[in-house]
Amino acid sequence: MDLTLQGALDERRQQHLYRQRSNLNSRCAATVMVDGKSQHNFCSNDYLGLAGHPDIAKALQQGADEYGTGSGASHLISGHSQAHEQLEQELAEFTGRPRALLFSTGYMANMGVISALLGRRDLVLQDRLNHASLLDGGLLSRADLQRYKHANTDDLAARLRASNAERKLVVTDGVFSMDGDLPPLEAMATVTNQHQGWLMVDDAHGFGVLGKNGGGLIEALDLSIDQVPILVGTLGKAFGTFGAFVAGSEALIETLIQFSRSYIYTTALPPAVAVASSASLKILQAESWRREKLVSLVSRFRLGAEQIGLDLMDSQTPIQPVQINNDQRVMEINQQLRAKGFMVGAIRPPTVPKGSGRLRICLSATHTEQQIDQLLEALESVGA
Ligand SMILES: *Cc1c(COP(=O)(O)O)cnc(C)c1O
Repeated sequence: MDLTLQGALDERRQQHLYRQRSNLNSRCAATVMVDGKSQHNFCSNDYLGLAGHPDIAKALQQGADEYGTGSGASHLISGHSQAHEQLEQELAEFTGRPRALLFSTGYMANMGVISALLGRRDLVLQDRLNHASLLDGGLLSRADLQRYKHANTDDLAARLRASNAERKLVVTDGVFSMDGDLPPLEAMATVTNQHQGWLMVDDAHGFGVLGKNGGGLIEALDLSIDQVPILVGTLGKAFGTFGAFVAGSEALIETLIQFSRSYIYTTALPPAVAVASSASLKILQAESWRREKLVSLVSRFRLGAEQIGLDLMDSQTPIQPVQINNDQRVMEINQQLRAKGFMVGAIRPPTVPKGSGRLRICLSATHTEQQIDQLLEALESVGA
């Protein structure tokens, strides 16, 4: 076996696509210790700086004092605690939907939702740049899986028109995770409704970041449940904790409880994590200065990047990719930045299409303006 596996590993290394992990010796923050060396952290999804927030850590400890470490079973057996129930109610209110349901991860939520809603006779239409978990959910459902052109409502409409599937599910990222741009949700909701389809939005990178109260793209664009009946959010990014949720109608949530295999056949999140997420939700809604700070850091970064001629993408969100295009060069630049004390994401195929390698720079409300300026200097000096 190992000989066969080694062949594929060697090939991956030759293609400059080999991936390696770093060991952090500190909590997630704007500056972290990596393998014993201090690094400016520009690659976490901790957009609001809540992953290391002391009050949320305290809530986690209090939750552990009350509930212990593990939930002990799945939600449908004996793993569903009052802490889970309360967080679900708070998330329903936060999203303006009748109900919300917790999943153990966003990956599982997406797999579980799409496969519970669709079967062989159905159609799932996905943006070409959707997150892997959405594509995998589509494959698992065995529905006809088609990928429409990125953020292209005309292509979407043509595919909806051409189909006579019983159920038609349109699925999109809210903020695209590797590009940072947004889909034209209002227009997409209109065409989807015209063709009796259902629209599902995975706003993993929008919740906490977009909208006046952090309610994500749905709040920012004021989209109703009729426009977006299926809403997915994750708790491991701006919330700074762990887990995910689906928000929607009573019938949707009950359907997931009855039929979603990745909901049914897995251990419920530790209740203490739900207690921590409730604490995070309060802070996230109340402290709008974190979103305001992010907006100002994003424009400072973009302005500075323009001045030194970086190849930015059309993103106004804290996800700011710098296009390098040569997949090998991405790795070299990444290592040079690392040596200067800057950690950014080196994104290569198969995460993005071949030849579209990029640095994925993620800004956080806890970065300082000085850190942004230093990052720009470093990017210029390594010839990004
Ligand atoms: C991160 C992410 C997920 C997965 O969420 P996890 O809770 O980390 O499993 C799903 N969808 C999108 C768009 C993501 O960026």
